[in-house]
Amino acid sequence: MELKILGSSSNGNCYMLDNGKDCLMIECGVAFKEVQKAVNFDISRICGVIISHEHGDHAKHVQKCLDSRIPIYASHGTLDSLGVETANVPNLVRPMSELKIHQIGKFKVQPFKTQHDANEPFGFLIYHPECGKVLFATDTYYLHYTFDGLNNILIECNYRQDILDSNVESGKIHPAMRARTMKSHCSFDTCREILLANDLSKVNNIVLIHISDGNANAGEFKQGIVEATGKTVHIAERGMTIKNFNVSPF
Ligand SMILES: [Zn+2]
Ligand SMILES: [Zn+2]
Repeated sequence: MELKILGSSSNGNCYMLDNGKDCLMIECGVAFKEVQKAVNFDISRICGVIISHEHGDHAKHVQKCLDSRIPIYASHGTLDSLGVETANVPNLVRPMSELKIHQIGKFKVQPFKTQHDANEPFGFLIYHPECGKVLFATDTYYLHYTFDGLNNILIECNYRQDILDSNVESGKIHPAMRARTMKSHCSFDTCREILLANDLSKVNNIVLIHISDGNANAGEFKQGIVEATGKTVHIAERGMTIKNFNVSPF
């Protein structure tokens, strides 16, 4: 299985789990032509798109997905905020319920609640025989849950408190923005705590996603998480593909 990163920031998020046959899309916050290119214009093999919440950087192109007949999976709250008319396209709009397991093509997806300033935002536990159990958690200032037997992890590592604080002191960032960031995004320290609260013994890749442009230091974040976990750690970058996104590194 490959992980394709089409975007991973407040400018637009989209990820694909793709083995050339089965393809699950996560978020639709990048231009649809990027999605088409990522699957060599074979849109029909995208079995669905799971959307964490309604903010534009995650869901801006939802209508394009519907126009291309890609089924949309999200919470009732997210679908409601997106104004997606379930009545018009009943077979394409699929509300998800918290902690229920949803079969999407060959993938099984279990949504769980995240902590963000959105209407019923979700993170996802995704299972496929090739990539095993994958945790996807973004735009959340902490997680209520821990997970067993994870094989791959995508987790937000948005900002570091000292960098955010110094940006407020120097006037680069408004104090209200700092308050919003702290109540809606995952800091480096929280990201590290979440990772260490989970059993990482079977983890192949940790991908740090949704890193802030101004309040982060990607190189130090990667180094810090490598030191804390001893795992293979990647910084998500637009256009990047992780080829060995499998159950085991071998
Ligand atoms: Zn976001
Ligand atoms: Zn958001």
